[in-house]
Amino acid sequence: MSDAISPAALSSAPAPKVGFVSLGCPKALTDAELILTQLSAEGYQTSKSYDGADLVIVNTCGFIDDAVKESLDAIGEALAENGKVIVTGCLGAREGDQGGNLVRQMHPSVLAVTGPHATHEVMEAVHSHLPKPHDPFVDLVPPQGIKLTPRHYAYLKISEGCNHRCTFCIIPSMRGDLVSRPIGDVLGEAHKLFEAGVKELLVVSQDTSAYGVDVKYRTGFWNGQPVKTRLLDLVRRLGELARPYGAWVRLHYVYPYPHVDEVIPLMAEGLVLPYLDVPLQHSHPDVLRRMKRPASGEKNLERIARWRELCPEIVVRSTFIAGFPGESDAEFEDLLAFVREARIDRAGCFAYSPVTGAAANGLPDPVPDALREERRVRFMAVAEEVSTQKLRSRIGADMQVLVDHAPALGRKGGVGRSYADAPEIDGVVRLLAPQKISKTLKVGEFTRARIVDTDGHDLVALPI
Ligand code: SF4
Repeated sequence: MSDAISPAALSSAPAPKVGFVSLGCPKALTDAELILTQLSAEGYQTSKSYDGADLVIVNTCGFIDDAVKESLDAIGEALAENGKVIVTGCLGAREGDQGGNLVRQMHPSVLAVTGPHATHEVMEAVHSHLPKPHDPFVDLVPPQGIKLTPRHYAYLKISEGCNHRCTFCIIPSMRGDLVSRPIGDVLGEAHKLFEAGVKELLVVSQDTSAYGVDVKYRTGFWNGQPVKTRLLDLVRRLGELARPYGAWVRLHYVYPYPHVDEVIPLMAEGLVLPYLDVPLQHSHPDVLRRMKRPASGEKNLERIARWRELCPEIVVRSTFIAGFPGESDAEFEDLLAFVREARIDRAGCFAYSPVTGAAANGLPDPVPDALREERRVRFMAVAEEVSTQKLRSRIGADMQVLVDHAPALGRKGGVGRSYADAPEIDGVVRLLAPQKISKTLKVGEFTRARIVDTDGHDLVALPI
C-alpha cells in the first residue's frame, strides 16, 4: 500500500498559502467547499486565518443588512491584516445605491470580486495574483486540457443531456435531461482555448437553443461580471472573447425557436460566424409530430427567410431523415419542396433506421427499406442541386479561409474552409498553388483566396 503524496511534497518550494473566511448560508458553504477543494487539488495550502497567508478569499453573504455589514467588515479586516483580498459570494453580486458594484465601491483595493457559484472565476483570480505551485503530475498537461482535434479548432460543449423525447432517439435515456454547464466555466474554457491558439470554436450540445433552461437562466459570473446562463448572452460573450484573437465561433445543434432570432444580428455584426446548424429532420408537420421534434410547431420556412433578411450571408446547415415510419409520398414531396424553398445550403440525409429502445420502432406503417434508401438518394440529389447553385454564386468572391492542410509549406496549395464549412461535415475550399509565396498558407492560419470554381460540395480557390 502506498501513501498519497501531495504535489507540494514533491516540490522544494513551500506551497503558497490562501486564507479563507466564509460567511453566510449553507449554499455559500458549498461554494466555499468547492473553492477549497480546488485550491487543495492544485496544491495550495489553505487556512482559516490570515496568519502567513499570501492572499485571502472572503466568501460573503448579502441576504440581510446585518449580513452585508458583517461581510463588508470582514473584507475591511482582511485588507487591513493582509492586503491581498479576493471577494466572492452573494454580496459580490450586489449593486451599490448609485449602480456599480457595492464591494468595489466600499473597498476599491480588493483584487477581484465575483458573485456566488463562481469557483472558476475565483480560481482565475487566485492564479493571476498567486501563481499555482508546480505540480509534477499534471504540469505536462497544457492549460486547455488534452484535445483530440487539430490545434486550430476545438469543440466546446455547453450542456449535456436533453429535455426532448424525439421518438427516433435514445440519447435522453442514456444521458438524462438537460444539464447546462455554468456559464463562467464555459467562458473560461473558451478563453483558454483561444489563448492556446484555437482559431475556430465549435459550440456543441444536444440542444444549444435550450442552454440555461434547466437553471432558469441563472446569473453566473465571468471575470467578475454577471452573465446570464442563456444562449444570447453566451454567444455574445463568446464572440467578444474570440474577437481579439481574430477567431471564429460556430454554432451547432440550434433548434429554430423564436429566441434564436435574437442571435442573428450578432452574426450580421460579425461577432460570430453567420452559420447555423439546425437539425430540422423533416418539414411536414405530421411527420414532425410523429417524431415529437422540438419546435415542431414553428414555421421554419418563415423563420429561415427572416434570418436571411437579418443576415443575408447566413449559411444554414441541416440534417433530415427520409422514410420515417408512416412517411407518405406527399410528405416526402413536401420535404423536397422545403429544401428547395428554404435554400438549405448544406443538407445531410439519413434513411430512417430503427434504434433499439427508440419509441418510433412501435409506430405503424414502416416504410420499406428499399424505399427509404430511394428517398434518401432523391433527397440528396435535390440538396446537391441547391447547394451547387449556392456554391456557384460564390465564384469571383474573395473569402477568408482557415487552412487545414498545406503540404510543401503551402507552395502546392492546400485545403481549408470558409465560414460556410464546418469541419468534418461540410465541404472544403481546395486551395490552388499560390502564384507567389504566401505567408498565410499554413495550417491553422487564416488566408484569403479568390473563388474560381466549384467541385461537388467544395469550392476551388486561388490564394491572393
Ligand atoms: S434528437 Fe431529440 S431527443 Fe434526441 S438529443 Fe436531439 S432533441 Fe434530444
